[in-house]
Amino acid sequence: MQLLKDRIRKDGVIKEGNVLKVDSFLNHQMDIELLNEIGREFRRRFTGKNITKIVTIEASGIGIACITAQYFGVPVVFAKKAQSINIDGEVYSSKIESFTHKKVYDVIVSKRFLNKDDHVLIIDDFLANGCALLGLLEIAESAGATVEGIGIVIEKGFQNGGEKIRSRGILLESLAIVDAMDAKQGTVTFRGE
Ligand code: 5GP
Repeated sequence: MQLLKDRIRKDGVIKEGNVLKVDSFLNHQMDIELLNEIGREFRRRFTGKNITKIVTIEASGIGIACITAQYFGVPVVFAKKAQSINIDGEVYSSKIESFTHKKVYDVIVSKRFLNKDDHVLIIDDFLANGCALLGLLEIAESAGATVEGIGIVIEKGFQNGGEKIRSRGILLESLAIVDAMDAKQGTVTFRGE
């Protein structure tokens, strides 16, 4: 998605440790015009899929998922990060290791909001090593829901998350795939360039 790539080049900041900061337009301050275009593009890429729910993870995924959901006319369910969980049978849960914070936490979704009749589109801001997505997939699987696809705004193609997901045969659409980035030069190379 050219608009997104141009914006990453203009306003993205490359940090040491393979972190791309896009907090001026995507996941802290949010450019709603851009998010609208992102939502429209996800709708286009998943044309013909019968989606009943969009699933994401707090916090950065929520805004993107909500705007995207308007194009699908479906609710958003976000996995909540829980410090400790009471396994009382009311929630699906999974453990996720945070790429940016380097710690493991539990995420939960209430059983009331996801079930075997659901056809899910998973949305998130970044794909790095794939831990967040694997956690969401585990939750969808526990619910017996069908995962119709995964939409990612920025995939870091030099990390192995994309490979892990695609090798499972899941339809994964990333709007920008970064194949290399150089913190010293401040340069980003996108796939296909
Ligand atoms: P993964 O679980 O695929 O390793 O990492 C995905 C999660 O980590 C995303 O939900 C995102 O919040 C965060 N993340 C991973 N890489 C980056 C990055 O380069 N920049 C930012 N801002 N967040 C990232």
